[in-house]
Amino acid sequence: MVYQRPWTHESDVTIRLRRCRDPLPNTGSLWMKTGRSLRVEPLELEVAQPLPDVCPRHGRPAVSRSEVRACFYDTDLHPRFHHSALARDLVKLVWLKQEATAPVSTIIVGEWPVCDRCVRTARRYRWLARSLMLLMAANLVAVVIVSVANIESLLAPLVLALFPGSLLGLVVFFFLIGKSAQRVTYRPIYDERFAFVRAHARFRAAIEQHPRYRPPLDGELDTQ
Ligand SMILES: [Zn+2]
Repeated sequence: MVYQRPWTHESDVTIRLRRCRDPLPNTGSLWMKTGRSLRVEPLELEVAQPLPDVCPRHGRPAVSRSEVRACFYDTDLHPRFHHSALARDLVKLVWLKQEATAPVSTIIVGEWPVCDRCVRTARRYRWLARSLMLLMAANLVAVVIVSVANIESLLAPLVLALFPGSLLGLVVFFFLIGKSAQRVTYRPIYDERFAFVRAHARFRAAIEQHPRYRPPLDGELDTQ
């Protein structure tokens, strides 16, 4: 593509967006309140064009569609950035400067094609997450049984496994759940009418070859 901006790539595709007609459901946890106010208008956007039946990540034929919800953050780098600059935010949190964390500025939703490989990977992560949760639950039950039965030699290792073990386990659990969600690699949003998206060559070809998927003409793109 020719419409390059910082943090975009020449092989990205541009996908048309529009404002959501109704407020998105269940966005409470996404619009995280931070002490820092937004420098731009908060936006809820959706994909506004048909997408081909090709997986944008792997270029394989799509077997289904999956709702993908992506958050963008008002960072120092860009007001609608695709990364939250988590490491930097954590450093600021450690210094109790919570007002400095990057707030969500934009949410984009869309039904994206997914291939058999995406589905298998998601299933594997979900299985791992469920197994971990079962293990932590079994550990909790074991602590109760062992403390009721008063078996002191077993109690200490089981309690350690519960705390801090299960705390770490919960972090890993949410990490695995996050990994199991289908994702699309968006670039920062420069114009609310378009998104730059990293895409496999076959997805790009499918978009470019069919008029109904074609991105708009050069003159229609503005910088924000
Ligand atoms: Zn795929």
